[in-house]
Amino acid sequence: MKCVAGYIQRKSMLYVTGVEYGDYTMNHVLGCAHGCKYPCYAYLMKKRFGQVTSYEDWLKPYLVGNTLELLDKEIPRLKDRIQSVQLCFTTDPFMYQYDEVCKMSLAAIRKLNDCGVKCTVLTKGLLPVELAGLSKANEYGITLVSIDETYRERMEPNAATIKDRLAALKVLHDCGRNTWVSVEPYPTPNLIEQDIDVILNSISFVDKIIFGRTNYSKEVSGYEDNKAFYNACANQVIEFCNEHGIAYHIKEGTQT
Ligand code: SF4
Repeated sequence: MKCVAGYIQRKSMLYVTGVEYGDYTMNHVLGCAHGCKYPCYAYLMKKRFGQVTSYEDWLKPYLVGNTLELLDKEIPRLKDRIQSVQLCFTTDPFMYQYDEVCKMSLAAIRKLNDCGVKCTVLTKGLLPVELAGLSKANEYGITLVSIDETYRERMEPNAATIKDRLAALKVLHDCGRNTWVSVEPYPTPNLIEQDIDVILNSISFVDKIIFGRTNYSKEVSGYEDNKAFYNACANQVIEFCNEHGIAYHIKEGTQT
């Protein structure tokens, strides 16, 4: 297990988000040890606004120490307006090997659920089995853009392995919980040659699949056939989901 770099205090925790799933979000960590090289949008934004100085700085997570106190204050005011809280938008709630982060995320989800607020979780770490004991309304997701472990190591250097990530998700599915997979940012063939059907077959047990293109990479925008490629992949995702009775969502701008 690894320790967070330190604790910080914030003035607020729950805020409205513009993402296509989850109307509210919470980010109770500054930084993310997973260090994705897609590149990570959250890192780019935090760097632009001066909250982190470098990639190395981003890899050292600071936990918001007053997270639960803030939730105690904000939940009563907001609970009737919230459809679901997404954990997280600018960090990872189950950061691999960061026990303090995982414990805080579990406590936060428990607190939100106790007040009738649903949570939608997305991680590149390991979803803990304790989530199976929380609200049945919650949705638990992992990101999976390749099943090639060499690509995972290159692009998500400090995240959990694909095998372990999938196994943790399957445990929650087998416990009767809602599970989903974010296949985003999906790489173009100049980054990795792979068959999307192999990925889809590995997640055929989930309730929902979200598919989205890579947006912030020069390599992808420089890939000449990227529009045709993403259109074809999106069609494969839709066909697969229809065949298997899986809900799906194709992210904006992926199909053109
Ligand atoms: S897991 Fe998410 S927040 Fe963390 S580095 Fe990767 S893309 Fe960024």
